Amino acid sequence: MAPPEFFETSPWIAGGVQRQPALAGAVKADVVIIGGGFTGLSTALRLREEGVDVALIERDHCGSGASGRNAGHLTPTIGKDFPYLVKTAGKSRAVEYARFADRAVHYTEAMIAKLGVDCEYVPTGNVITGLHPRHRKPLADGADLAAKLGVGVAFLDEAEVRRRNLPSHVRFGVIEQSGGHLHPGKYVLALRQAVLDAGVRIFEDSAVTRIEDAASPIVVRTAGGSVTAEKLVIATNAYTPATLGRMKSKVFPVRVTLFRTAPLTAQQWHRIGWEGREALYTAHEAMENYRPQADGRISGGSKWVQYGYGSTLTTGHLPEVFAQWRALFARRFPELPDVSIESFWGGWIGLTLDFLPIHQANARGTVFHGIGYNGHGIAQGTYAGPMLADQVLGRPNAEVDLFRRRLFPLPPEPLRWLVIKGITSALDRIDNRVDTDLERGG
Ligand SMILES: Cc1cc2nc3c(=O)[nH]c(=O)nc-3n(C[C@H](O)[C@H](O)[C@H](O)COP(=O)(O)OP(=O)(O)OC[C@H]3O[C@@H](n4cnc5c(N)ncnc54)[C@H](O)[C@@H]3O)c2cc1C
Repeated sequence: MAPPEFFETSPWIAGGVQRQPALAGAVKADVVIIGGGFTGLSTALRLREEGVDVALIERDHCGSGASGRNAGHLTPTIGKDFPYLVKTAGKSRAVEYARFADRAVHYTEAMIAKLGVDCEYVPTGNVITGLHPRHRKPLADGADLAAKLGVGVAFLDEAEVRRRNLPSHVRFGVIEQSGGHLHPGKYVLALRQAVLDAGVRIFEDSAVTRIEDAASPIVVRTAGGSVTAEKLVIATNAYTPATLGRMKSKVFPVRVTLFRTAPLTAQQWHRIGWEGREALYTAHEAMENYRPQADGRISGGSKWVQYGYGSTLTTGHLPEVFAQWRALFARRFPELPDVSIESFWGGWIGLTLDFLPIHQANARGTVFHGIGYNGHGIAQGTYAGPMLADQVLGRPNAEVDLFRRRLFPLPPEPLRWLVIKGITSALDRIDNRVDTDLERGG
């Protein structure tokens, strides 16, 4: 069998883009944005619609971060899961967060429509899948609680799962009704083009090396130049601690591996069923995600994640993890012994201690952060655009207010590494017990 291909960024953007020129010399703007993913681009577009002069600085090309690498599940998931959110934030706050996440999905759908891009979006919803009897009660209870509180989910019992003909590893599940799945590369590159068309100056291949924000105006420097502006938006999510040395105690990067198979034949698809082509993610503590692509492949991943000491951006070429994935894929899709994983890639998600995003401004109201989407940033990063734009423009925004809370800091290293390792190992142990039992026929 041929060794799998490894993409440094992802197959979604493997074709590359015609780069915008790097920042050179001294430039002035009303607002400077650092980071060209969903957050930075959506903010730039919204501000431009208000006539604001925006400069956006990106260290590689727009879309080369998580926005151009992700798994493509457009979900209204927020927090670790809904029952955990109720436990930690209380019922009414949890419902507000869930409604926020739903609005974020709808805003993203509207954005896709406005861009007029075919990014292969299919509004199938996402199914949280139960594989083992131990998954049943938490899923059923969680769905019951969410449904009672008016959150758009429904429990799928064994009969409904078989009626839908979901892949055989799925026994029951919970469907999140809004959202679906899409081609992240097509979406983020369309957003980039819209931002350019709107007249935003984008500087690519321009890593920010220094931010001078103690006084007004703010100066943001790269190796080749500087942008001077009254306001700054930091939209660097998981990269923030490593590349800007900021928010180290609030957000940390975790490397996630994804894969895609070769295209399946019609006969192979027939064997597996899955006619509704729903996006799936498992109810494991460290989830596995799977979705059908428009070109007939299956893509998926997550589960085994890595944290780099000091919040460094760890490497993604991980042959042991790739081997684990090939073995796991064969177990989850036994009806596809003749389908193999063709390629791997991955990226860094920005995690926060309470699994909620951070929308934080400095005391002077000149620097604004939109970061920490905990792996749900297709919707929440896109929706951060109007949230950040309102803050920049000094307008009230109820969504921003929703996320004002006390943020508990992560401990410094080496304790941070030990805590994160401790949590990920504990979650792995729980999942391993379930998986071992499944292999024994449990
Ligand atoms: C493997 C993977 C799978 C995922 N799957 C899903 C999913 O299925 N569904 C979902 O909703 N979310 C998913 N996510 C999360 C989602 O992709 C992110 O939350 C979202 O893309 C964040 O967008 P962003 O614009 O905030 O950050 P990013 O897209 O990461 O953009 C930040 C940008 O900042 C740039 N930058 C960093 N430092 C500097 C600097 N010093 N100077 C200039 N520029 C800088 C980076 O190059 C990058 O382009 C996944 C993420 C990963 C990595």
